[in-house]
Amino acid sequence: MEEKICIKSLLPGELEQLMAELGEPRYRAGQIFKWLHQGVASFDEMSDLPKALRARLEETCVLTRPEILRKQVSRLDGTIKYLFGLSDGNSIETVLMEYEHGNSICVSTQAGCKMGCVFCASFDPARSRNLTPAEILDEILFAQKDSGRKVSNIVLMGTGEPLDNFDNVMRFLKLVSHPDGINIGMRHISLSTCGLVPMIDELARLKLQLTLSVSLHAPNNETRSSIMPVNRRYPLEELMPACRRYFKATGRRISFEYAMIRGVTDTRECARQLIGLLKGFNCHVNLIPLNHVEGSPLIPSTKEDVRRFQNELIKNGLNATVRRSLGGDISASCGQLRRQRNKEVSQ
Ligand code: SAH
Repeated sequence: MEEKICIKSLLPGELEQLMAELGEPRYRAGQIFKWLHQGVASFDEMSDLPKALRARLEETCVLTRPEILRKQVSRLDGTIKYLFGLSDGNSIETVLMEYEHGNSICVSTQAGCKMGCVFCASFDPARSRNLTPAEILDEILFAQKDSGRKVSNIVLMGTGEPLDNFDNVMRFLKLVSHPDGINIGMRHISLSTCGLVPMIDELARLKLQLTLSVSLHAPNNETRSSIMPVNRRYPLEELMPACRRYFKATGRRISFEYAMIRGVTDTRECARQLIGLLKGFNCHVNLIPLNHVEGSPLIPSTKEDVRRFQNELIKNGLNATVRRSLGGDISASCGQLRRQRNKEVSQ
């Protein structure tokens, strides 16, 4: 049997082609695209399509629809964290956050990550797989539908390395920014990478207007390699020039994520090295107080140490902010809920 088509992963032009193959008029593609991006749960909900076409679609296509396995709502700030179940039994996390300027959603791009950063709860190479464009889109569609909140900003900072799932993520970006779909512009999207150098160059070639975040987390190779294995493959002397090339090609300022880990990344020497590394580079540094992950020996820096570190950077001309932490009562950083469930399921 031929494999069914994942219809929600199709771009408008491809939907038109599908309609042509099915002997349908071209305008049906536009109707279907709109329904898909409203998050319909079945082809039968596409009420302006003829019944016969709906049946044909059912036969030839798959309509993805995640199941909400778990949902946690923060009492502190209204942050909602979803654990979605996928059709193959795998699961992913999505976090919806409320800010003054709108709702921001943090989406996963892979089920389980292969990168192995020691401070992160998402490492799960055995179960890791790329999410399809439709599955990434579904995180937004079904979080919106369930919560009744309209998403205005997207961060690709959930589980997974987006640049390790390059083609699907690029297709997702085209779908989500389409005017007939969710219609979120690139300037409202951030993509975070642990630093896959060839893929940063690949992304630069596309000249997208999104914000690239680079998870730097340490200012020297020794420390960075000890917490991020990817640094052994692409050390700082390769990563930093790639970041500069990216800025040159796109004109978009890079945001460096820097986790504050007590005694590891928050020392005066680290601040000095970071200032040296980023000197003269028009960028932004986002200091993230480490989220403690169960069983990890790494401890978050104190508030005072974070402030001191930030002031040191600012005094030396760097643009540095401290990330506000949301959903503290529901362990809202990604990977933790999925990990908990996988433990329970395998017991
Ligand atoms: N793979 C991508 C995106 C996913 S992680 C990347 O590495 O950038 C999103 C961000 O959260 C990254 O900056 C990551 O390093 C950071 N992060 C992961 N675990 C964390 C933790 N326990 N505390 C603070 N930040 C964490």
